[in-house]
Amino acid sequence: MKMKRMAAVLLLLLLCGCGAAAPVEEACPVSREPELPPSPAGYVALTFDDGPSRHTERLLDGLAERGVQATFFLLGSRLEGSEALVQRMKAEGHQIGNHSYSHKELGAMTDKAATEDLARCDLALCTLLGEGDYWVRPPYGSMGSGLPAQLDVPVVLWSVDPEDWACQNADAVTHHILSRIRDGDIVLLHDCYDSTVDAALRTVDALQERGIQPVTVEQLAALRGKTAQSGAVFLRFP
Ligand SMILES: [Zn+2]
Repeated sequence: MKMKRMAAVLLLLLLCGCGAAAPVEEACPVSREPELPPSPAGYVALTFDDGPSRHTERLLDGLAERGVQATFFLLGSRLEGSEALVQRMKAEGHQIGNHSYSHKELGAMTDKAATEDLARCDLALCTLLGEGDYWVRPPYGSMGSGLPAQLDVPVVLWSVDPEDWACQNADAVTHHILSRIRDGDIVLLHDCYDSTVDAALRTVDALQERGIQPVTVEQLAALRGKTAQSGAVFLRFP
């Protein structure tokens, strides 16, 4: 339909010679809808903090096999030496976010010091991957109440937390997630544990069997009509 309409507009322009007056929107329709598979049972976002690590590559391999994109909140201090891995993440369609440079508790710092730490990570991501909107997840979910309004990207928290870092048990993490997860949830995980990689891939398999599609946080926000504006803090997308 769009091609036919475009052809008709072009033909009209040729006939009347009035190209300068053509409305750009009409001649070049642009769809901003994310290209996602139909998913009647819903969408969720799996997020991974504290990477990249030596376990991240196996996670990327498993996600690629399953055709799934996730969100990685990276530490600026861990980018050096993992440049190719992070570039692969971007090339495979994963969302990459900012988990600070130093992994300090931002809520215990002044907002000025916190924004400087986040800016240092943002600069490292821009240098490696190019300019972009690198959404923020503060370490430990800790931040001053005024911090989100000082950022020009959303802050992403979570609604399901299996505490994978504490138990480091793939069965327990998988069970925790699958017994709680609902459409619109954001799951907190850490790709620096072998057990988490196992749990994440098992979780993806089980979700897909339920007809629930894991997507990036940005895709989930777009599906729910949420705009990525300054001051936004996302816990889940009901
Ligand atoms: Zn962290």
